[in-house]
Amino acid sequence: MRRHRNVKIVATLGPASDSYEMIRALSEAGADVFRLNMSHGTHEDIGRRHALVRKVEADLGMPIAILADLQGPKLRVGTFANGEEELAEGQRFRFDLDPAEGTASRVQLPHPEIFAALEAGATLLVNDGKIRLRVDTCGKDFADCTVMAGGTISNRKGVNVPDVVLPLAALSEKDRRDLEFACELGVDWLALSFVQRAADVEEARALAKGRAAILSKIEKPAAVKSYSEILAVSDGIMVARGDLGVELPVQAVPPIQKRLVRGARAAAKPVIVATQMLESMIESPVPTRAEVSDVATAIYEGADAVMLSAESAAGNYPVEAVRTMDNVAMSVESDPTYREIIEASRSAKRQTVADGIVAAAREIAETTDIRAICCFSQSGTTARLVARERPRVPIVALTPLERTARQLCLTWGTTCVIIEENVERFKQAVIAAVRAARSMGFATEANQILVTAGVPFNVQGTTNILRVAPCDERLIYRADPE
Ligand code: ATP
Ligand code: MG
Ligand code: MG
Repeated sequence: MRRHRNVKIVATLGPASDSYEMIRALSEAGADVFRLNMSHGTHEDIGRRHALVRKVEADLGMPIAILADLQGPKLRVGTFANGEEELAEGQRFRFDLDPAEGTASRVQLPHPEIFAALEAGATLLVNDGKIRLRVDTCGKDFADCTVMAGGTISNRKGVNVPDVVLPLAALSEKDRRDLEFACELGVDWLALSFVQRAADVEEARALAKGRAAILSKIEKPAAVKSYSEILAVSDGIMVARGDLGVELPVQAVPPIQKRLVRGARAAAKPVIVATQMLESMIESPVPTRAEVSDVATAIYEGADAVMLSAESAAGNYPVEAVRTMDNVAMSVESDPTYREIIEASRSAKRQTVADGIVAAAREIAETTDIRAICCFSQSGTTARLVARERPRVPIVALTPLERTARQLCLTWGTTCVIIEENVERFKQAVIAAVRAARSMGFATEANQILVTAGVPFNVQGTTNILRVAPCDERLIYRADPE
């Protein structure tokens, strides 16, 4: 199966997407990456969803990436006897340390450090800031509040305390257990929540020991300030707008989003724009115009991927939400203005031979009838460099490594093919590339493709060949008998 768009779609799994049929339907509708949120559900749930995705992957015969999102030092309420309660403006509500299930008038907030730091007059925000409460009185194990902006509060919703600085470690005990569990399962990406500095990323990388790529969620003002250092040690970035829009004024988010997306692209690392992209589709089969425009904006900005959270995890219309993103992507990407914006925002500094080769590949693809840029990649670096150029034609990454193919599912415009074994000679590589491009319908016998590779093969970090190849295998043999 091949996609007809460049931007990738990440769908979060949850109770609304818990079956083989649903995960397969989401995949077929366009989901390229599935996110398992370690904040919700037990290891058993996570393990079951992981296995379902792998089964769908095998049955559809295309690589699918799995991203495990570690909770990080996020503050969350406990659970409710009824699962959820309605909070009305003006009513009183208490947070405390009592593990008993929550009611309409109280719920557990299992973080003594918040109560120690709170003062009367402070603001508590629940569910990405949708519910706002003012603290009236508080003690070492409770806070009595007045609801300033109401809404539905439900199990394990996140809480932010923007006025108070809390002493938080990057990875909690739970995160370390979850990280180990996820790596053992074999996830492809680990997302780190509430990263504040590069050292947080390095700590996680040391624990992952190469088993998964590391994606930093940018959702703290400190992370925005140290973005270049964090980007340098991360394999990918998520613009986590939920907490970002609570920790900073909400109007600060769009400019930050633009800056983060550009920075990640210049570094040839995938960047996901996340949170509330199609929020109304939790309840409604059609999105608002504003949501469609938001998804479109991320695509015009050149993001590698757009993400669904509750829409696919806990909403009533998961497949429709994926389909909506797919449709928006195809509409934006066929707009001539999209090409103009993408071209104008190319900003990478070119310093190496590989940089030159991928830039040349993009230019050649623009001026002639080239149908795909095929690249051989062990670690995925060459494919990501080609993707950074945002070429007009599809990128086909050929790799012998399943892990690389899966990790590249997050990269703009890239389709991955797992090749049986390592190619040793360049001609074999060209033929493998031609066959891949043709079998996926990117090219016919009459077309040409570009092939990039590094020779000698199987040495990382060498990209030194660019070849224009006819898709007719007989012509390849005639031109290059060896
Ligand atoms: P994060 O800060 O990591 O994004 P979140 O609580 O916002 O955490 P999301 O994965 O963004 O979680 O999903 C949004 C909402 O969808 C959650 O608050 C929750 O209500 C629901 N949800 C998501 N995944 C699950 C799940 N596995 N089980 C139950 N509910 C879920
Ligand atoms: Mg978050
Ligand atoms: Mg969220």
